[in-house]
Amino acid sequence: MDVVMQYADEYLFDSVYMGISSYTGIPYLERQNPVRVIGSLFVFIMSYIVVFYLGTAGFEYVYIYDKDNMKHPKFLKNQVQMEITTSLKAFPTITVLTIPWIYAEINGYTLLYDDPFKYGIAYLALSAVMFLLFTDFCIYWIHRLLHHPLVYTRFHKLHHKWVVCTPFASHAFDPIDGYLQSLPYHLATLVFPIYKYLYLALFAFVNVWSVMIHDGNYLSNNPIINGAAHHTLHHTRFQYNYGQFTTIFDRLFNSHMRPGPSVYNSSIRKSQANISKETNEIDKMLKVVDATKF
Ligand SMILES: [Zn+2]
Ligand SMILES: [Zn+2]
Repeated sequence: MDVVMQYADEYLFDSVYMGISSYTGIPYLERQNPVRVIGSLFVFIMSYIVVFYLGTAGFEYVYIYDKDNMKHPKFLKNQVQMEITTSLKAFPTITVLTIPWIYAEINGYTLLYDDPFKYGIAYLALSAVMFLLFTDFCIYWIHRLLHHPLVYTRFHKLHHKWVVCTPFASHAFDPIDGYLQSLPYHLATLVFPIYKYLYLALFAFVNVWSVMIHDGNYLSNNPIINGAAHHTLHHTRFQYNYGQFTTIFDRLFNSHMRPGPSVYNSSIRKSQANISKETNEIDKMLKVVDATKF
């Protein structure tokens, strides 16, 4: 991120702050000035999230998403607009809460490293696997705790407004919920060394993955991968499949539900009989979830 911010300073922020200074008479803020760093990070992180979210979710929505899902009785009126609005409203708060983490990364307070050969190629590959398993484990527990009746309604219920999702549901959270579920990606940089460009690539990957598990495109029938079929079950059955990338922790902690074979057969899945059965089950589940409050 330090290199990215150097480029951003060189090609954008230097001239922006110069312009602000000459227009307002406020002294020019040098690159190391904390006010400038925080301001630049806000603009940079916010732009990154908005462009990445609208770009990947928009691409998936146009080219991959099965629009038949929108005929489901549980698909809400104006849902796509609501998902996008919810996401865009959450981004400023998530950005503010993320600034200290990126600030720490830029200033060398994390274990991110510059030389890809520092710990060898084998470690480079291993660190990517460790990153996915570590964050999967943490997100599993954060997500599972967010389903606790004490906090579910306040923080996580908003994401479950989308029972039949579109790719735009991927980032449509309450801001605190979204931030908490992103925390493991930053925590990982304090727990074990990661090559900084690999970290940037992994960060992009996890965002794309979030979009993919909400796109209703059931590509993977692999029992270990937590694909769209597994995450769809999370949105329709609520108390299963809390994991992000794998089913490992759902299996270990007894919350795994494997999608039935009919899920992968689109003519059965889209049949009126199947949709009616599913709608009944969702309604039963919703009654239980909504009634469980402290
Ligand atoms: Zn959930
Ligand atoms: Zn979801």
